[in-house]
Parts: sequence; C-alpha cells; structure tokens
Amino acid sequence: MVYQRSSELFAEAKKVIPGGVNSPVRAFKAVGGDPIFIERAKGAYLYDVDGNRYIDFIASWGPLILGHAYQPLVDAVTERAKKGTSFGIPTEIETELAKLAVDMVPGIDKIRFVNSGTEACMSAVRLARGYSGRDKIIKFAGCYHGHADAFLIQAGSGAVTFGSPNSPGVTQGTARDTLLARYNDLESVRVLIEANENDIAAVIIEPVAGNMGCIPPDENFIQGLRQLCTDAGILLIFDEVMTGFRLAPGGAQEVLGIEADILAFGKVIGGGLPVGAFAARSEIMDYLAPEGPVYQAGTLSGNPLAMSAGFAMLSALNNDREVFQRLAEKTQYLHHGLDKVLDKTGIAYQINRLGSMISLHFTSDKVIDFESSATGNNPRFKRYFHGMLREGIYLPPSAFESYFLNDALSYEDLDRTIEALEKIISEIQ
Ligand SMILES: *Cc1c(COP(=O)(O)O)cnc(C)c1O
Repeated sequence: MVYQRSSELFAEAKKVIPGGVNSPVRAFKAVGGDPIFIERAKGAYLYDVDGNRYIDFIASWGPLILGHAYQPLVDAVTERAKKGTSFGIPTEIETELAKLAVDMVPGIDKIRFVNSGTEACMSAVRLARGYSGRDKIIKFAGCYHGHADAFLIQAGSGAVTFGSPNSPGVTQGTARDTLLARYNDLESVRVLIEANENDIAAVIIEPVAGNMGCIPPDENFIQGLRQLCTDAGILLIFDEVMTGFRLAPGGAQEVLGIEADILAFGKVIGGGLPVGAFAARSEIMDYLAPEGPVYQAGTLSGNPLAMSAGFAMLSALNNDREVFQRLAEKTQYLHHGLDKVLDKTGIAYQINRLGSMISLHFTSDKVIDFESSATGNNPRFKRYFHGMLREGIYLPPSAFESYFLNDALSYEDLDRTIEALEKIISEIQ
C-alpha cells in the first residue's frame, strides 16, 4: 500500500495542529509510523486519501455501530441542516431523543445532553458531589472517563493509594480528591471507603472496561461494588460512554443486571456527531440548574443536528433489537477465527470479549486489570498492527484500546480479517 498523500497531509497538519492531530491516539505514537488520512467511508469500509480501502474495526471509536454513512442518519442530518444548524433555543428533537433514551435505559427518569463523553463524566461527578455534599471520588486505574482534571490521575508505584496527577496542569489539590482502586478488586475499594468514611461522593467505573483493552467485570466484583456503595451512601456512576446502546438497548446495566445511580453516555448516543449525556432518577437530576443548585450548561448542548443524528441512531437500534445479538455473534466468530490462527503458533496472547467489544493482548497473563493489561509485548503488537494495516485491516493503533464491531461488517469481511492474520503471522512470531 502507498501512504504518500497521508504522509504529506500529516506533515502539513503538524505545522498548525499540535502533533498533527486533535486527539492523541490518532497520531500512531504507540505503534510508530504516520497515521492515514481518511477521504470517506461507507458501511464497514474506510477509504484513505491514497485510495486504499480498509475494513474498519474502530467505527470512530464506537459511535458508528451500524456502519459508516448509515443512510437514515445521513438523511436525518441533511434534512435538519436545511432548517438551520443551531438556535440556542429549545427544539422538539431534544425531548424526542430524551424520551427514547429514558425508555431504553433502565432506572433513569431524566437525561441532560452535553457535547462529549468528557463533559458527561465531568458533569456526572459534579452532580454527585453537589447532591451528596461530599468531595472525594473513587476511580479505577486504567478506566478512562475523558480528560477532565479529576480523571487524569494515576496510581503511585503500583499500589492502590492516593493518586498523583498524570498530566502537567492537573493540580495536587485535584489529585487529592480522586482515590484510585484496582479494577476487579473489591477489597481495594473497601479499604478506600473505610479510610474515607463519609467523604466519598461517588465511585465512577466503566462497567465493562474498554480503555485497557476490553475487560469484563467479575460478577462478584460488580455486584459487591453496588452493595458497598449502597451501604456507604455513595453514588455509583456507570460510565457507559462506550457500552451504552452498544452492549444492549439498556447498555451494560441491562447485561450485568445492575442499576447505577448516575449514568454517563457518549459515542453511540450521537451516532457520530458530538453528543454526550448524563442521566439519573428525577430526585438526583432535579439537583441540576435551572431546577437545582448544581450548575451545568452548554451553548451547543442539545444541538438539533446532533440530536437528529442521535435520534436516527437510537431509533434504528430500538426498532431492531436483534442487532446486539447479531453483533455479539460476529464478534465471537472473529474471536474464534483469531484463536485458530494464533493457537498454531505458540505466541502468548489473551483475547477478551463481551458483546461487540473485543481486544487482543500479547501476554500470557490473564488480563483483568490495568497492571495485567500493561504486560503485553509491545514490539509484537506494533508488527501486528502494521501488518494488518498493510492487508487493509484497520485496528486500534494501541494495545489499550478495544475494537468496536459494527453491523455493516459481513462474515466475508471477518474471514478476510482472519486470513490477513494468517498471512502476516510469520512477521509477528
Ligand atoms: C471515549 C470515552 C470517554 C470520553 O468521551 P469523549 O467524547 O472522547 O470526551 C469517556 N469515558 C469512556 C468510557 C470512553 O470510552
């Protein structure tokens, strides 16, 4: 494959955009080389500016669960744009999308729309703090909740401990209010709760982790977490930015049979336009301005173009609820196909999967938390990534990212993907 035009465009971009990208993972730092620049996409395929075609396993990091340029969504946005793109005044489509979301998701009465998953998580935490009158939150090492200050915290020296900032610009003061626990380790949460009695407003978690590869929660862990929070009067926030409207109509809550107190959404809920949302029962949501004292706002929040995209997406999913099962079966098919090729080689690897989320780690350790996900063989991952790219398979350019399958992927596409691995397998031995 030729990547000349992409490389030229990347060089130009770097002159005026830091690192040439508007979100770091796009720059291919973890795998090396220049990123591809996309010209257009349709269904399961991406087309880059050099005329190469790729089978896409990212789908814009999740939102495009029905594939690229899904016709009803394109039509909805196009029609809406003709009537004006933004007013900063209420529109009916906001209520329509809110009703649909409240109907699909268990345990919520009201929802507030924002413009990104970051905003959704940040606002959910502010609401939890305002509602509870407490300051501290617990998050899990390896879980990503967007780039708000409170979430850019890392564990000290491997131990479960008070966090320290993992980005310059985040203050020690902010870090002090974020406590770090270990994913799938209930005891690590219990210790923090005991040491900070009556100080913890919320525990925020990806109910199925997708930002250290895909890591499903152990059943006892996630049920125990719900119980611990209830017992201590702590609000449980499920960050369903990735899992919401992807794993089931009711997201991870439905799959796990557990209800959180506050939910954060993003990605699929906007169908590829910038939408985030947070939701809860009325008692909590009515704490928000203008009804209540917790401030939250947005010039473009509930933007009609974005809302019409979200409505087209959620309507399609709500009217075809088999899609989730269909996607899970495709993902299982891919899993078994990759297993078949890799098992012949003696390469140490782990594949984790839940619904339409799947990831491959080159390690012999079971991947259950951040530490185990970080044991992967990175040089091997790089060769795997670039080998597959050359064969026209677009995978996440980092071992810490999940793949997101979309329903436009055919079994032929999956076979082609498995064959591609077979073809490059000698390079990654
Ligand atoms: C993507 C993601 C976010 C952040 O959403 P943005 O729209 O990128 O701000 C938050 N939480 C989770 C679980 C995510 O996957």
